Amino acid sequence: MLTIFRKMNRTLLAIILVPALAISISSCSTKPTTQPQAKNIIFLIGDGMGLHQVYAAYTINGGSLDMMRATHVGLQTNYSANRYITDSAASGTALACGKKTNNGMIGVDTARNELESILKVAERKGMATGLVSSSAITHATPASFIANEVSRNDYEAIAADFLKTDIDVFIGGGLDHFTKREDGRDLAKELETKGYTVATDISQVAAHTSGKLAALTAAVHHPNMLSGREDMLPFAARKALELLKQDGDGFFVMIEGSQIDWGGHDNNQEYVLQETLDFDAAVKVAMDFAEKDGETLVVVTADHETGGMMILNGNIEKKSVETTFTTGGHTGIIIPVFAYGPGAELFTGFYDNTDFKAKFMQALGISDTEE
Ligand code: MG
Ligand code: ZN
Repeated sequence: MLTIFRKMNRTLLAIILVPALAISISSCSTKPTTQPQAKNIIFLIGDGMGLHQVYAAYTINGGSLDMMRATHVGLQTNYSANRYITDSAASGTALACGKKTNNGMIGVDTARNELESILKVAERKGMATGLVSSSAITHATPASFIANEVSRNDYEAIAADFLKTDIDVFIGGGLDHFTKREDGRDLAKELETKGYTVATDISQVAAHTSGKLAALTAAVHHPNMLSGREDMLPFAARKALELLKQDGDGFFVMIEGSQIDWGGHDNNQEYVLQETLDFDAAVKVAMDFAEKDGETLVVVTADHETGGMMILNGNIEKKSVETTFTTGGHTGIIIPVFAYGPGAELFTGFYDNTDFKAKFMQALGISDTEE
């Protein structure tokens, strides 16, 4: 009898206390915020990397890729506002800012209104931010995360947009767009005045161990893997994480394997595969970091596919693959998404390239927007 009474009492208490507790918790917070799942986000974009590029690289690698350490997989549509076949500016803008725009446009909508990228949301929330690219840092994909320009070709304006932000770390090519400018500004000097260490070669990057870093490690683009870029991208990825993790408020970083796309445009299988494997080496850096850290969401995807690459035959044991290309341009095929870490489940299923920003914000527990 006594135990029944105790049980009843406990149930009664639960009925009375649980809603009271919920009310007191909700009345404590002034604005609705979702529960954060991830402290840090590493977003990796393989420019031009479709499923055939991924599986061909897997094949010549003997049946493994680090991106396949992902626990959750999804598919994204990537058409732009004015074209079924997107370019890297419109798709970069969609991935970064959550809105469709016209091909060629960077961080602005079709009416030319400036959009706030996920990197800028993270910055506004006090997180550390970074960009890493194996092309010029002013090229369409990284530019979409930091610049607001009507034309992707306006490299000098895109470079100047870096100065309007407080990005903590960026590593990529494009030194000329900062220093050899029509307006005569020396943005490298301006960056130093703003407190950045400006590095122009990879040994200076290696020597930098704390504080803001602007690394412009090529005049414009880095060489491709077949021409000896070596481990620039995975090295830069590791350095960016080393610097960004020093901020206790978490970080957002976008790391791009830029030249998978260029191999696709060239219809050059070896170019595509070496760039995809190099990108996967950067994914390994991210996955190893996230595995050890436990608070980091890693998302790997592409902006679109390039070359209409098709696998015709292959042999995983012999690490050989036979492919063909069906176009010198981009295709419209849906793109795989690989996710790992807290919040990875948000990236399963079928969705659009404009959905990434909201998913990242949900993972970080950010529910407000600037507008
Ligand atoms: Mg790109
Ligand atoms: Zn392209």
